[in-house]
Amino acid sequence: QAKKDARGGYKLANTTESTEAQDRLVLGSALRDSLSKGMLNLHYQPQIEAITGKIYGVEALSRWNHPTLGNIFPSRFIAVAEETGQIEAIGRWSLEKACRQITRWDRDGVRIPVVAVNLSAGHFRNRSLVPMIDGLLKKYNLAPERLTVEITESVMMDESEETMNVLSSIRKLGVGLSMDDFGTGFSSLSRLTRLPLTEIKIDRSFIMNLEHDANAQAVTTAVIGIGNRLGMTVVTEGVETEAQYSLLQALHCDVLQGYLFAKPMSATDLEAWARKPHDFLKTTSENHTQKD
Ligand code: C2E
Ligand code: MG
Ligand code: MG
Ligand code: MG
Repeated sequence: QAKKDARGGYKLANTTESTEAQDRLVLGSALRDSLSKGMLNLHYQPQIEAITGKIYGVEALSRWNHPTLGNIFPSRFIAVAEETGQIEAIGRWSLEKACRQITRWDRDGVRIPVVAVNLSAGHFRNRSLVPMIDGLLKKYNLAPERLTVEITESVMMDESEETMNVLSSIRKLGVGLSMDDFGTGFSSLSRLTRLPLTEIKIDRSFIMNLEHDANAQAVTTAVIGIGNRLGMTVVTEGVETEAQYSLLQALHCDVLQGYLFAKPMSATDLEAWARKPHDFLKTTSENHTQKD
């Protein structure tokens, strides 16, 4: 149905919406195709222990480079996967790939203590998640502490019995449970105490403004304090500068992740990275005494 637009030209009504829907269809079927052909990849970003400067673990992040559509950001294709019913397949794929990778690193003598895998809200309404994770731990003969599941506040907001059961069953397996992007959603602090979390990740938006924004600093300080008191590991994501590192160290943040240390990289690159000595701790204190 054609109608006249403001500039006097003609266009089809709802063009934007139908283009979006079409995009989603195209991306959705391309994703299905890539997933079935094993053309998705996992990259790994190091997480650093603030006190020792040593590697704490890695976060696994999905990557999709399509032969004709090019590189598609995870924020885009994860949303498409959720909308087109493929998110559970992606979860199964990433959990399996991560577990297999841990055994390879172990075999090759590379010390990666724990791998964190991102899962979307959709997984937690499904009972099959827990036996699936249990099965993978057995198949790859992994101690449960080697695996952490990252969930967002949207999962935490779902107070249904089903979701709560799945969360506590995952904890009972001994697998870590991390609340990702904390501070961006609407979950209350009291909810933190009622959930079986082992870890809390403060969102990058707070870290970005840490040095110049008193509010961001107040929130970060408070969340680190509460996380520590509740016996959780506190992780900050998006650490990009030495100044942020020093500040977070002073605030007793446990684990740091961000471009300052390393970007997400392929399993092979991560292995090479982990074999090289990194003295992040020394670097910061030197900068402190020399420049500042
Ligand atoms: P996330 O789980 O919060 O992951 C952290 C994101 O921050 C990653 O983006 C990472 O590359 C980026 N990042 C890390 N350090 C820095 C930094 O210092 N500066 C900046 N600017 N960015 C940094 P990425 O890989 O694009 O992933 C985006 C989001 O997509 C993830 O956010 C996660 O929510 C989702 N995602 C990625 N892979 C998967 C997956 O396999 N399954 C699910 N369900 N979600 C995934
Ligand atoms: Mg994450
Ligand atoms: Mg995050
Ligand atoms: Mg984030």
